[in-house]
Amino acid sequence: MIWDFDYSSISSITKLLDENGLSMTKKFGQNFLISMSALDRIVSLCKPNADSRVWEVGPGIGALTTKLLQTGAHVTSFEIDHGFCRILREQAYVDVPNFTLIEGDALKNWKTVFDAEGAPDIICANLPYNVGSIFIASLIENRCLPKIMVFTLQSEVVERICAKQGSEQFSGFSILTGIDYQNREAFRIKSGCFYPAPNVDSSVVVMERRENALVPDDEARDFLELVRVLFAQRRKTVKNNLKALGRPSAELDEALAKSGISATERAEKLSVQQILELERNIYRRV
Ligand code: SAM
Repeated sequence: MIWDFDYSSISSITKLLDENGLSMTKKFGQNFLISMSALDRIVSLCKPNADSRVWEVGPGIGALTTKLLQTGAHVTSFEIDHGFCRILREQAYVDVPNFTLIEGDALKNWKTVFDAEGAPDIICANLPYNVGSIFIASLIENRCLPKIMVFTLQSEVVERICAKQGSEQFSGFSILTGIDYQNREAFRIKSGCFYPAPNVDSSVVVMERRENALVPDDEARDFLELVRVLFAQRRKTVKNNLKALGRPSAELDEALAKSGISATERAEKLSVQQILELERNIYRRV
C-alpha cells in the first residue's frame, strides 16, 4: 500500500524527520515541494500511465514519488540520503511492487541502470540545484534519451535550456539540451512552495524528444565534444577555443573557411547547422 502522508504539512514533515533522527541538509539541495497543486501539474506534464517506466532523482521522503506511483507507472528513484531511503523503504513503500529504490549518488548510479535496462520512458525530478545541469548533460552525452523529461530546476538553468541562439543566456548547454529535445518553461514555482524555502527562483522545464534530432546520432558524440570546446571560454573567439583540439592551425583555418565561419566569431553566434558543418569539416575530412 502506498503511504498516506500529508506532504503539504510542514509540521508532519518535521515530526517525521524528528522521529527518525533526521534533519534537512543544504549540501544535498534538500528543499521539499509542499504545494500539492505544483506536484499535480508536474505529474500531468509527464503523462505517465501504467505502462510507463519512470526515473526520479532525489525522491526525498516521496512527495513526487507518491503521485507518480499513483498513476500505476513503474518508478525507479535514486536517493543519496540514507535516512530518507530508510523512510522510503520501511514506511512509505513497503510492498509497493512498482517502486524500485537505488540508494546512493544518482550521478554515479544512473548509468548502471541505463546499461541494464536502457532509457526509461520518462524522467521526472525536482532536482537538487547542485547536480541538475550535470545530470542532464550526462544523460544527453551518454545518449540516454527518454521521450519526455520534466525537471524542476533553478529558473536561471531553465532559461539557459530554453535560450534561443544569439540571446544572452544562450550557451553550450542550450545547444546540448536542444539537439534532441524541444524545451519549454512550463511554469514558475514560488520559493514559499518549498520547505525550507530556497533563496533562488525555481521553474519547471518540459523537454520533449524531437522526432528528428538536429544532429544525426552517429555524429552526436563528436558534435558534443566540439560544442564543449567551442564554448569552453565564452570570451574567446571560435579559433582560439578550437586550439584546445590540438590540431594544426592551418587545418582549423581550412575547416572554419569551408564551414563559412569567421575565425574571430564567438561561439554563441553560431547556429547548430554551422557547428554541424564545422564538425564534419574537422572530424570527417575527406
Ligand atoms: N523530490 C522531493 C520533493 O520534490 O519534495 C525532494 C526534492 S529535493 C530538491 C532534492 C533531493 O535530491 C533530496 O532528497 C536530496 O537528498 C536528493 N539528492 C541530492 N543530491 C543527490 C544525488 N547526487 N543523487 C541522488 N539524490 C540526491
